[in-house]
Amino acid sequence: MDKFDVVVVGAGLAGLSCARWLGERGHRVLLVDRKPRVDQSVHTTGIFVRRTLEDFALPEHCLGPVVRDVRLYSPRRRMLALSSPHDEFRVGKMGALYQHLLRAALAAGVRSAPATCFRGLVPQTDGMLLDLETQGASRPVHARYLVGADGANSRVARALSLSQNREWIGGVEEVYDSRTIDSPACLHCFLDPRLAPGYIAWIAHDGDEMHIGVGGYGDRFDPNESLARFRDEVPRFIALHGLRMIERRGGRIPVGGLLPNIVNERGLLVGDAAGAVSPLTAGGLDPCLRQSALAVDVIAEFLRGRNPVALSRYESAPFRKRFRARALMRRGLAAIQHPWLAELGFAALSLPPFKSLARRVFFGQGSFPMSDQELQACPEFRAI
Ligand SMILES: Cc1cc2nc3c(=O)[nH]c(=O)nc-3n(C[C@H](O)[C@H](O)[C@H](O)COP(=O)(O)OP(=O)(O)OC[C@H]3O[C@@H](n4cnc5c(N)ncnc54)[C@H](O)[C@@H]3O)c2cc1C
Repeated sequence: MDKFDVVVVGAGLAGLSCARWLGERGHRVLLVDRKPRVDQSVHTTGIFVRRTLEDFALPEHCLGPVVRDVRLYSPRRRMLALSSPHDEFRVGKMGALYQHLLRAALAAGVRSAPATCFRGLVPQTDGMLLDLETQGASRPVHARYLVGADGANSRVARALSLSQNREWIGGVEEVYDSRTIDSPACLHCFLDPRLAPGYIAWIAHDGDEMHIGVGGYGDRFDPNESLARFRDEVPRFIALHGLRMIERRGGRIPVGGLLPNIVNERGLLVGDAAGAVSPLTAGGLDPCLRQSALAVDVIAEFLRGRNPVALSRYESAPFRKRFRARALMRRGLAAIQHPWLAELGFAALSLPPFKSLARRVFFGQGSFPMSDQELQACPEFRAI
């Protein structure tokens, strides 16, 4: 039977980063994903914020052009423009980025098991026996430690008796090749509970690609019907005619905040599996990278001596406290169910204190609430 120091379940941004960095530290790592290819069924728009771009050197060929402008729209389509002197956003070419990370992981000695599903585990004194399934065949594997990077509905979380996500919004989007249109790069956000209850509808256009999407609470809308209505409206804001659709994406985004129990002596959770997504903006890519850098450092220390104290650095309580303001704002956003309330809120955004709050939300430096010292203590900082 194959034996590994760490088995990482899930080859999204969190799992690929963890596996690669653990491999680079010399651990025997198996990376498991139920998808046959990492660049298949991407389910993120891929917008990286300034802080991530500054702290992690993402490869240039995996990023679209810079976006500095945001336009907010009310239900009656009044518009508020926000502009930044900085390079605020770049839309990741996620398929290429996942491929890049997989290559780096394999070069670091990580073994990859595509088209392989994690089904459960049996605890043993020196680790655990994992029940993996590849194309209908069972594949038992022994692991000293397990990383659950298996997304919002984590089976690893259940198997490890850790916390599970309970609050989600659903998002769906279409991606178009927009290199032929001459329109400035801009992130258009529509605060309209008829289209996107509890979240936003968006047009993210960077000059290479245009992403048109809607997100919201699943019990309050039909995402596909809402996206169809929104698409009909898009030409009022930006040319769409003649553009070729490249792909359709969608998925669940956990917005209940970082989960209370995300680590124990058998394993830990990262990324969406840990609820490490900003409850307000629903941004989860920055947390994937920061939390993975911390996870790798903690796992390496734990595996050296199996001292449970090493794991205390990964406990979520201190991080959850720093998420509190955003969790409160999420409650506010979720409560806006009527267009007139959204219109009123939008009118307030034109007033100086609220406008600066909006600037802070879109151009702020807040992401996963990990201090610079905490991040810089992890050697993986910047290396990607
Ligand atoms: C429509 C949409 C748009 C978004 N846009 C943005 C954005 O622009 N910016 C931003 O910061 N965030 C965005 N997010 C959130 C962000 O994409 C996620 O937080 C992030 O991608 C999560 O990465 P992850 O690695 O934790 O999980 P995932 O990317 O979900 O990866 C989990 C992996 O686990 C695998 N898996 C699951 N179960 C098993 C199993 N039992 N066995 C084996 N493998 C398994 C899956 O196949 C998958 O590959 C968006 C989310 C959605 C849904």
